[in-house]
Amino acid sequence: MIRTDLIAPIGELLRRQATARGGAVAYEDAKRTVTYAALDARTAALAALLQARGVAPGDPVALHLPNSVAWVEACFAILRAGGIAVPISIDASEPERTYRLEDAGCRVAFTTDAYAAALVARGLAVISAGPGGDFAPLAPAGEPPRDPEDLDATAFLVYTSGTTGRAKGVMLSLRGMLWVNAACWVPIAGLSADDRVLSPLPLFHSYALNLSVLGILAAGAREYILERFSVSEILGLLGRERFTLMPGVPTMFHYLLEAARAAGMRAGSLRLALSAGAILPAALNRGFEDWFGIELLDGYGITETSTMVTMNFPRAPRVMGACGLPVPGLAVRIVDPVTDADRAPGIEGELIVRGPGVMQGYWRKPAETEAALRAGWYRTGDLARADPHGFLTITGRLKELIIRGGQNIAPAEVEEAVIAFASVRDAAVVGVPHAALGEVPVAFVVPRDPATFDPAALLVHCRGLLSAYKVPHAVQLVTEIPRTGSGKVMRFRLRETLHDPA
Ligand code: AMP
Repeated sequence: MIRTDLIAPIGELLRRQATARGGAVAYEDAKRTVTYAALDARTAALAALLQARGVAPGDPVALHLPNSVAWVEACFAILRAGGIAVPISIDASEPERTYRLEDAGCRVAFTTDAYAAALVARGLAVISAGPGGDFAPLAPAGEPPRDPEDLDATAFLVYTSGTTGRAKGVMLSLRGMLWVNAACWVPIAGLSADDRVLSPLPLFHSYALNLSVLGILAAGAREYILERFSVSEILGLLGRERFTLMPGVPTMFHYLLEAARAAGMRAGSLRLALSAGAILPAALNRGFEDWFGIELLDGYGITETSTMVTMNFPRAPRVMGACGLPVPGLAVRIVDPVTDADRAPGIEGELIVRGPGVMQGYWRKPAETEAALRAGWYRTGDLARADPHGFLTITGRLKELIIRGGQNIAPAEVEEAVIAFASVRDAAVVGVPHAALGEVPVAFVVPRDPATFDPAALLVHCRGLLSAYKVPHAVQLVTEIPRTGSGKVMRFRLRETLHDPA
């Protein structure tokens, strides 16, 4: 059953939950908790504050906060004021943050006291959360929040590393995002008001924005938000308190399983774990289920489709290593990447998707939008095959994307940083397999002078420009970068020359 009743404006969802369970805790972090009644009142006051600061309908507002209750409050306040929420990782490097603020055209931002001065210096109006993870005393709402009714307006601009150099802002609507809750998390994973979710996911990423932010509200569940992924914190919480559901990416489950085995710890009261973001190896899936005695369901999601395209069903037949069946309401095809002809079951092709969650386009990038969307079909750039029962397996990628621990890295963006280092003549960045992280970026560098080249200094330079997860895992010196006649880097050739596999 698709729960279309959950596809409603944020103000309405908040009022519904405040009425049904006002005194129940909605979100909590290590510092604060907020009940549904307080969430309704506080987001109304914050929305009024945004409106008083001049935020008009359709204005982008930056969300530059650590994972916290405040993050969720700020997000809902932006939507209630009619703005577009623009999540920016708190760990973004200064150039990455500036690029997103400028590309989106944000004039107002939510942030912490630590970043307030830097953003004010860039001309932004700032609402900042103090060390307690709370906003300065909120005045009672001066005017009511706009609480827009339109579910099809752009509500989120989620930056994603695509195949080309710079990150692109993916325009998503509230209808598309809530569709995934109505068609997947609630009816398939059984997310409900009885659940207490433990979320270690970064909230700025579409997966968590969909499930850990919107899904909790839509279902009226309760959630503990970890500031960042920490195996010891998760095992401690699972041992002490009652949690029923945990989303994660494969790398998190890998580390969790290792640590739990070493400590002899089990899953406490968890009923289900959910994996998305990168291939979940069959051995990890089985190993996790054997040790913890609960199901770990893999689903395949993409920012450009408001996340979930396929999902595995609990207590139902599954194919280990496959990412499940198409989510109801989506049309999914596997086609020849050149001719678009449909491929027979069992034959690999490019996965293309159409449905309510497909993005509206890339923010201010019409050429990129046209290349990715054809007649409503989003070209995922992922290779897949279907078995005779319709289970999909992701088999590879057409797009040059590195997925390190569930986070996407565009090789071109890392290459730009590496090539900007003065003693580099030429460079290419390649994803290589890694046991725990899935893949890691390795920089192949042609130095200007091999005798004096300092790889450590190159990595320091990269850390100044890139988020930590994008910094090359290793640097390997080569005499030339192999390219095709049309100038494309032949990454497979470089991968073959790797000295020390990661
Ligand atoms: P993002 O937009 O950051 O969520 O990244 C989406 C990409 O992650 C997809 O296009 C896939 O390449 C990969 N991905 C996500 N979920 C899965 C999964 N369950 N299995 C394999 N690859 C996945």
